[in-house]
Amino acid sequence: MAYTITLIPGDGIGPEVAAAAVRVLSATGLQFEWETQHAGLQALATHGSALPEAVLTSIRRNKVALKGPTETPVGSGHRSINVALRKELDLYANVRPVETLHGVKSRYDGVDLIIVRENTEDLYSGLEHVVVPGVVESIKIITEKASTRIARYAFEYARTHGRKRVTAVHKANIMKLSDGLFLDCARGVAKDYPEIRYDEIIVDNCCMQLVLDPTRFDMLLLENLYGDIVSDLCAGFIGGLGMAPGANIGEYGAIFEAVHGSAPDIAGKNMANPIALVLSAAMMLDHLGEHAAADRVRGGVDAVLKGGTKLTRDLGGKAGTTEIAEAIAAAM
Ligand code: ATP
Repeated sequence: MAYTITLIPGDGIGPEVAAAAVRVLSATGLQFEWETQHAGLQALATHGSALPEAVLTSIRRNKVALKGPTETPVGSGHRSINVALRKELDLYANVRPVETLHGVKSRYDGVDLIIVRENTEDLYSGLEHVVVPGVVESIKIITEKASTRIARYAFEYARTHGRKRVTAVHKANIMKLSDGLFLDCARGVAKDYPEIRYDEIIVDNCCMQLVLDPTRFDMLLLENLYGDIVSDLCAGFIGGLGMAPGANIGEYGAIFEAVHGSAPDIAGKNMANPIALVLSAAMMLDHLGEHAAADRVRGGVDAVLKGGTKLTRDLGGKAGTTEIAEAIAAAM
């Protein structure tokens, strides 16, 4: 059986890392039919819209997408493509595993964290306005429904993946109502999972504790904005953005994409590290129930990193994007 998957190459380094991930997936022996769809700056130029309706239709039909980074056109009137995709498809859970892999130079060993970020509300609601000239207001929306749903996702993930502890990250000492509601919801859900330890930490202290010793944490549960910032911070523990995979999951579909952006500084130069998207593709295989294939992909990445001779520049090597993809495929 072939899996039909929506493939969004995206902008900047997107097409290069997407091609690398497709190459690696072809080495699993599974059959994929890729439905290529364009979103981002390139789509604006060729299709007149940065997020053509066809993209949403394709993902709604296939339920699964693999996506490279997309750039949102600068200027007013353009919604962030990622925010729009997550909202339109109600992909409420952003899951970002942060794990030290062999062979990657980093100050930190043994990091094994899962970040679960709420994906649909908070300051990303896009509600901003000028009250009077010189004064703007940006509205943070936190709802009981979305907070409970993301907390339940985190605890279910903990239960099914053998995780022991969920830490909710907040600033409820300042945002007593909004972050207070988020915590109330998390506490309520935690009661249903007595085997999983639940605790809370203020976001600034969380950042300091993470930098001192990221192995202190198991799973972090965060609102949208804290999740965005803390996950970039955590990418730094494992060799940078080129190593950090992610998934956006909802009830009706899922998009797998790396944490990094389109990296225009290195686009088109065969210099991008494809591992973040390759590991996102492994998460996609897990989502499809193809756990053995997912493990083979991770094993291939591991072997290449351990080998230490085929690394991109961000990891201190000289190899190109395509070379890494071939090396991972060969190691599988
Ligand atoms: P966005 O706002 O779209 O998230 P950003 O401005 O945070 O993007 P990125 O595009 O993610 O930034 O890039 C940040 C830095 O990390 C750049 O210097 C870029 O070259 C580097 N980088 C990002 N992804 C990769 C990758 N896959 N391989 C190598 N370097 C990368």
